[in-house]
Amino acid sequence: MGILNKRVKDLIYGDGIDLTGIASADRFGNAPEGWKPTDLLENAESVISIGLRIGEGVREANKLAYRGRRHGIYVYQRFGYTLLNEELDRTAHRIARFLENKGHTAMPIPASSPSDPYALKGVFSNRHAAVAAGLGEFGWQSLLVTPDNGPRQRLASVITDAQLDADPMYNGEKICNKEQCNVCVSVCPMNAISKDKSVKVDIGGKTFEYAYINKARCRFGIHALSTKTLGRLDFEIPSNPSPEDYLETASKESPWQKMERVGSMCGRCIINCPIPK
Ligand code: SF4
Ligand code: SF4
Repeated sequence: MGILNKRVKDLIYGDGIDLTGIASADRFGNAPEGWKPTDLLENAESVISIGLRIGEGVREANKLAYRGRRHGIYVYQRFGYTLLNEELDRTAHRIARFLENKGHTAMPIPASSPSDPYALKGVFSNRHAAVAAGLGEFGWQSLLVTPDNGPRQRLASVITDAQLDADPMYNGEKICNKEQCNVCVSVCPMNAISKDKSVKVDIGGKTFEYAYINKARCRFGIHALSTKTLGRLDFEIPSNPSPEDYLETASKESPWQKMERVGSMCGRCIINCPIPK
């Protein structure tokens, strides 16, 4: 391992990060226009992916909330979502500063928000970066799944012009066996995960397939605009809601709920995924 790789990984593990890997920018050669690392940083050579595990106790709190102890969702929102995202952003920032102090350019990519609420997109896909960096593969619910944590990790990335040694892509046993499982499809309260319709992506010469996700319906779920995802009020949700449908419905959200909602109120496809068995 080169000295720069070692210093970067020492910094990452020193920050208590659970998962990390490095992808060469050319692994994103078949990404759509606008979504390649070089679309964001012209001379990008490497993408560093970092992840923090969602703890088992936090997972239990989400299950508890959906078993009737609604307030359990506060634990999930903070320790399964907002705090992990903040910690990842802090480390991504530290990695970028470290690389820039060494004379490189580095762009940290936030773990989650802010994102474009109209297009339902962030600036770059952390989950695609994680797969390119060898952390795992896609589960059917379209998230990164790893052998040890399934889909229960949050992610951030750093794009840099530093030429780091890339880690190998994941080459182990298939992690998600959709044909024998389908739990994420059946557990989604919003019916946002297609059973049959899929998306194919090519990363580093390997083809991955995952479900088509109706992201707009998912947003109604994670923002608790349905009692099925712990909402205080139930709203009618169109089968394919537009951004305007969302805005209109969100304007009627219970004011009490607005005060308590700081992160995702759902995550059922993450919490109930049986990996690892
Ligand atoms: S977060 Fe909830 S609503 Fe969104 S896809 Fe997962 S289970 Fe469905
Ligand atoms: S719930 Fe089952 S089908 Fe869905 S991602 Fe996990 S293992 Fe794959």
